[in-house]
Amino acid sequence: MKIHIDIDCFFVSAARIIEPTLEGKPVAIGGRSDTKIFNKEAKNQTVNFENSGSFVPTFYKAYEKSDDDLDAFKDDDGRIRGILTTSSYEARAFGIKTAMNIKDALGLCPELIIKAANMSLYQKLSHQLHEFLQTKIPLVEQASIDEFYGDLTGWIDDKDLYEFIDNLKEEIFQETKLPVSIGSAKTRYIAKLATTHAKPFGCKLILPHEIDKFINHMKVGEFAGIGKSMKAKLKSVHIHTLGELKQRRGTVESWGPYAKELYKRVSGLTDAPIQTTHKRKSIGISRTFNPLYDREELKRRVHVLARHLSFAIIKLDVIPTVFHLSISYEMNQKSHKNISLSEIFTEKKFDSLCLSLFNEADTQKRLHAIRLSINCSSFTRDSKKELSLIGFEDEQKMHTLSKSMYELREKYGIDTFKYGSEM
Ligand SMILES: [Mg+2]
Repeated sequence: MKIHIDIDCFFVSAARIIEPTLEGKPVAIGGRSDTKIFNKEAKNQTVNFENSGSFVPTFYKAYEKSDDDLDAFKDDDGRIRGILTTSSYEARAFGIKTAMNIKDALGLCPELIIKAANMSLYQKLSHQLHEFLQTKIPLVEQASIDEFYGDLTGWIDDKDLYEFIDNLKEEIFQETKLPVSIGSAKTRYIAKLATTHAKPFGCKLILPHEIDKFINHMKVGEFAGIGKSMKAKLKSVHIHTLGELKQRRGTVESWGPYAKELYKRVSGLTDAPIQTTHKRKSIGISRTFNPLYDREELKRRVHVLARHLSFAIIKLDVIPTVFHLSISYEMNQKSHKNISLSEIFTEKKFDSLCLSLFNEADTQKRLHAIRLSINCSSFTRDSKKELSLIGFEDEQKMHTLSKSMYELREKYGIDTFKYGSEM
């Protein structure tokens, strides 16, 4: 049997570990598209990278105020901006939901306590939980910052399983102070579904013969992997519940490989092994800002994003070979550019690369831009073998320089060095 462990409202639970007085109160964590990094006087930035698994490097200070962090979400003009990333069950009782904007949330619940995100704390706790689980379960896979899968096959007898996961939940709480919920089933997909029904701070075991009964009346949207468009497609053929989906194998499977796989997942007919090592596949950074026309300022922002991302890439010690830059404009227009490049990573080169990607991607020159994003993927580690040897020595020198800059930034902050082009 597989298990799925998910931390209950993780970011709020983490905040409560630091500030136990938040216990029992409506609390939410705010996230905002942090445009403060573009500030020329910026020091000690908070930086949020995309694809924020637990493997994202963190190197910034969290807001240190003790009570409400609402000020951190105010613009220069005093307007509250930002959205909620997590809310406590007490807050949810007021109708507060993830992705709701902070202003609306305060309208629903004026006593709501908004805390700023503290990524380094989340990383630390996530890591601590991962380590602990490895001492308890032979095979553990980290699926996201607050989610883990484990394989108990051959380890715990089915008849002892509920007791085991219930104990595990208590032990995790003793060890980390984190409330988790645990689902268990024959496949990881059904185990994950079970977890949602175990929350908060509960356990749910679905034995193989119970799967049908368990999923029968469940709305299709509850299943991970059924998004908006699939939901709409299912609705168009009058499939609303997972039970109905299971009855319509032919229809669903005729939609292609993805739907075929989905059918099997829902029915508990397919599974994927627990993978104990997780390899990051990409890293990116992006920012949304007020509509901006000035191309020079946009280019400066590209340099800023490149510098931050470069820091993370060096920290991860990976060599990306595919680079992607995209620009979102007003009126829902978008444009992007990719390039593949097998060379040693240096910050200077990356910086120039991002700028030329921007120049090529900026096709809607009459429009204001509202978002810039850069993503790097297809990592290679063995640089010498796989990368071009032309100019290898020079590149190696630049790489060493990038590394030294990285080390100084690690110590003194990411704004310690900037290229002239950003000033
Ligand atoms: Mg969670």
